[in-house]
Amino acid sequence: MSNAHRSTDWRRRQTKVVRNDLVIALAQAANRQEVDILPPVLNNILKPDIDSDSDTDISISCDQDMQSPVESVSEKMTNNDENQTSSTFESIILSEKESNETICSIDIATALIALKSRHHLSNNCVGDILVLLKLLGVDVPSSYKALCTLLRKRSDLHLSPSTHTICPHCKKLSVEKHKCTACDANYSPIPSTKIPLFYTYDISRQLKAILATSKDLVLHNNRSFITLTMNIGGIQPNKGSDQSIWPVLLIINEINRKKRYSPKNSIIAGMWPGPSKPSRTTISLLFKNIVADLQELEKGHLFKLYSLEHDNHFETIKVFLICACCDKPAQCLIQCLPDPIAFFGCGNCEIEGVSVPTKNDGSVVSFAIYENNPNACERTNERYDLLQQEVKMNENQLANFTGSCGRPALIEVHKNAEKGIKGPCLLRALSKFDVGRCFLVDSLHNIYLGLFKRLLSLWLSHKDKNENWSLWSRTDELSSLLDKVRFPSTTTRHPRPLHKFSKYKGSEYRLVLLFGYSIFESILKPECYSHLLLLVLAVHHAESRSLTHDMVDVVEKLCLSFLYQFPKLYTSQHNVQVVHSILHLSETLRNFGPLSTNSTFNFEDQLGVLTRSCKGTRRHAIEIMNNLMYLRDACSEAANANMHKGLQKLLTTWLHMRDAYNISSKDCVRVLHPVKITDQFFDSIFSGDIVYYSTAYIGQVRFTTVQYAREKVSDDSAILFKDGLKQNFGRIRRIFTVNSGEPMLYVDVISKMLHFECATSTDVYSYSYIQTGLLDEQKKSIFISATDIVEKCVFYEPNNRFCTFYRFPNPEHSS
Ligand SMILES: [Zn+2]
Ligand SMILES: [Zn+2]
Repeated sequence: MSNAHRSTDWRRRQTKVVRNDLVIALAQAANRQEVDILPPVLNNILKPDIDSDSDTDISISCDQDMQSPVESVSEKMTNNDENQTSSTFESIILSEKESNETICSIDIATALIALKSRHHLSNNCVGDILVLLKLLGVDVPSSYKALCTLLRKRSDLHLSPSTHTICPHCKKLSVEKHKCTACDANYSPIPSTKIPLFYTYDISRQLKAILATSKDLVLHNNRSFITLTMNIGGIQPNKGSDQSIWPVLLIINEINRKKRYSPKNSIIAGMWPGPSKPSRTTISLLFKNIVADLQELEKGHLFKLYSLEHDNHFETIKVFLICACCDKPAQCLIQCLPDPIAFFGCGNCEIEGVSVPTKNDGSVVSFAIYENNPNACERTNERYDLLQQEVKMNENQLANFTGSCGRPALIEVHKNAEKGIKGPCLLRALSKFDVGRCFLVDSLHNIYLGLFKRLLSLWLSHKDKNENWSLWSRTDELSSLLDKVRFPSTTTRHPRPLHKFSKYKGSEYRLVLLFGYSIFESILKPECYSHLLLLVLAVHHAESRSLTHDMVDVVEKLCLSFLYQFPKLYTSQHNVQVVHSILHLSETLRNFGPLSTNSTFNFEDQLGVLTRSCKGTRRHAIEIMNNLMYLRDACSEAANANMHKGLQKLLTTWLHMRDAYNISSKDCVRVLHPVKITDQFFDSIFSGDIVYYSTAYIGQVRFTTVQYAREKVSDDSAILFKDGLKQNFGRIRRIFTVNSGEPMLYVDVISKMLHFECATSTDVYSYSYIQTGLLDEQKKSIFISATDIVEKCVFYEPNNRFCTFYRFPNPEHSS
């Protein structure tokens, strides 16, 4: 994610974090030879983590999840600053035990890698810090390169990629860069940039290292197998470039969800370094190696598993790839299907599509479905095998065809019978992988960057401005309404104004669909708005933190109804593949659980961090992979028992190795920023000294009053709280203490709350996570204790006195 779109608040805090981290690192390094001393800031960061291992209190820890770890710490740092700015550089002496340990150059190398990853520092920046440390008399590697060598030599996890080229003469794989190891031909004079090349990495070695060191692996019922999810998609190394690199990553599903996508737990299987999209043949060559490795793993291997006692706990474990989460271009290459926009382009069913003329004399394949039409066959292994036989028979038939005419007609018949299959899908060789079903309908590519982007484009793009559904002329009005949707400070990327919608990131589309949909209420045609609500509820359910089978059934009905109505509202021309893809959403939920568990968002975030400084050439593809490798090295060094304890604590926080941000209901409540208020109503109720505040922290989660939030970009005043046995939405009017007692809140509760509702032609669905109510003059307000707060919410108040509260469907990736 780029920082450019974050709030100013966020950036200011971020700068503060970088500064503080550097101060700590420098102080530690500079002081280590004399006395081992740490600035108190360090202790303050670490203190709350020590006794917060439990995450039993779901509600509060949920809210915690919404914060990016960096941000939680930064909020914390802000408090420290406010309370004790002057003491930052004072030192305290560590306990006797710790002062015996020294920090050696490998520790500093580890710290710098952690710092590099945490703040996206360039290699040059790390080099400069090294020079500075050297000047301060610290024993450090002389350059960034030397630092890397130091780490690499100590690590058995650090892999060099195997490079493969594709011979331009025999089209086979070669393990050498300049000649073919299959046909022995020399590549010269063909320039090496013209030779397709890719990298693969040893999967089982990475798996071994992860299983041996990861505390986050949970094998239920002593199961002796683990499952993998594969992620593939093109990423642009730098903005606006048409170059793309394609990493193939594997994720271990048995690792605790929050840690599953962290660099130290993900496996790099291979990498297509661009510069252009790989061809069907290249991708199948790349996958040949990967699939062979995966087949080997299915047989079962002896793995050492991490255990607290560091005893040698070995187990035979089988490893299965069970699903793949890809962007559309990657998926059709791997599935060996036509482009998603072509006939038979759906990866989940055999729908043919109909060619529909467009206004500018072109044509487009529409995948509109109608109530009375039979469903297309699902793509499955069984169907795939039948179709492969069909393809073979057809080839034979064509080879033996001798007639003088009728050949094109025969080819046409064949095409229809083959349902778009263009060749074998290599993943079919895996025993637990279904080449249809196991390709997920993922939220990022199918829903947010797919369907919802398409809808916004229909409403807001200039080229559709004369259509009866267009809102193009009202874009500014909609944007100002969008400003009234108030997101908590934990949402680091607020949606930009709507005229920039085509440049939105996935997370911005997500926020507008989940919460911002309300702005279209009286602007979109009523039938179009009702239609949109079907999608809103389907996606809220699909992202739900507590998905049930009933909810999946509802999603299925909502999506069907949405798709039946779509061509009637927007013509079949716009019913393209991404629109069609939500037909298969409920099936993905049924097989693989809520979308948040399989979301590609996690990957895009990870890769975004790693690609930021890269220029998109082959060398940079390697650099990205190296960054990931060194980060993993740093993680394993930081887990080393011999490391200086103080530094170790610091590094585990920097590397997010510990869940330092979970809090429980036992967390302390603190109030900040006293404000001068005289409230006669309060005076009449409480006897004693009343002090009002603008901000309260529960653990590290911030809450503020409405008054405080009014001028700010973010709004931490809308909450869900426990009201007796019920839960209720409200906004914080006052935060106060009486005679310095427990902090209390005075919360405005909106009257006549109505649940969100939407209707298909046969049913009405109601949803309690979104409620709308009336903000009348005699507001009902009640006193609650800070511990009654469940979590922060999104709040929307247009000008018509009706306001809406939205609960996040799940606490993930709201950043
Ligand atoms: Zn060759
Ligand atoms: Zn389909």
